[in-house]
Amino acid sequence: MLGFFAVYGNPITHSKSPFLHNYAFTKLGLSGYYSRILLDKGANLRQNFLSNGLSGANITLPFKEEAFNQCDEVRGVAQNIGACNTWVLEDKNHLVGYNTDAQGFYECIKEYKIKNALIIGAGGSAKAVAMILQSHNIPTTLINRSVQNLSFFAHKGFECYVSSEFKPTCSYDILINTTSAGLNDNLLPCDESQLKELCSCGKYAFDLIYGKCTPFLALAQSFHLSCSDGKEMLINQAALSFELFCKQKYNKYNLEIQRIASFMNEIL
Ligand code: NDP
Repeated sequence: MLGFFAVYGNPITHSKSPFLHNYAFTKLGLSGYYSRILLDKGANLRQNFLSNGLSGANITLPFKEEAFNQCDEVRGVAQNIGACNTWVLEDKNHLVGYNTDAQGFYECIKEYKIKNALIIGAGGSAKAVAMILQSHNIPTTLINRSVQNLSFFAHKGFECYVSSEFKPTCSYDILINTTSAGLNDNLLPCDESQLKELCSCGKYAFDLIYGKCTPFLALAQSFHLSCSDGKEMLINQAALSFELFCKQKYNKYNLEIQRIASFMNEIL
């Protein structure tokens, strides 16, 4: 038995992770089961994980920082992000934290040969995107509607601006919307004329929001930028987590990320 797995969050009913992981278990003939757990307080995360006898988990909003703080060891880019979306239990009691959002994003754009990037937004997902771009030496600028969340990025050496004060002095190959503007409303993530100026000299537009054409992507399309929503990133982060869940016991299986991702893509 591979074990039991779950995704933690609040809210959590909307999460597609159980469908993706259970489908991949079935396709590979692995005896794993993945569910969702609604948690009131992040302080109980570790205790809940251990008392439920889980072998691994995904952690989503608003508990990714708690997941970072409560594991025994943090590996990879998660160390710089300060947030984990994946836990794997090793040797019965050693809880290891990872961040697969970051690599999940990078897998989507790695073929583009990006020279520089502009991130709109400064929340949790912006941290994952910014740190993976930095780890690949891609110069990255951030803009955000308010100043508070920018301090994390300023400390990490990024060029940062409050959106209303930002005057672009160069073009950006890729514009990345990491805000939730457009998720449940019809808003652009920053001023329309500013965005038009940025689109007029950009090549790619990427919105982390998935399953809809946001006002941001619609505007970018009207400037003929090559556009992607967040679906592939969602699948990639799930496939990367899945590989981490399975590889301790099942390295005899052919668990390449692209193969797992293509299974997951079949049902999303
Ligand atoms: P956070 O709550 O951590 O950050 C939200 C960010 O959006 C903040 O920078 C906030 O600005 C900004 N923002 C919110 N509303 C507006 C608005 N109306 N105009 C301009 N800026 C706004 O969220 P996350 O970073 O975790 O998630 C952001 C989005 O990314 C969500 O839609 C989520 O679904 C998506 N996502 C997709 C993933 C995928 O795999 N495809 C993975 C992770 C996230 P301020 O700092 O001023 O509050």
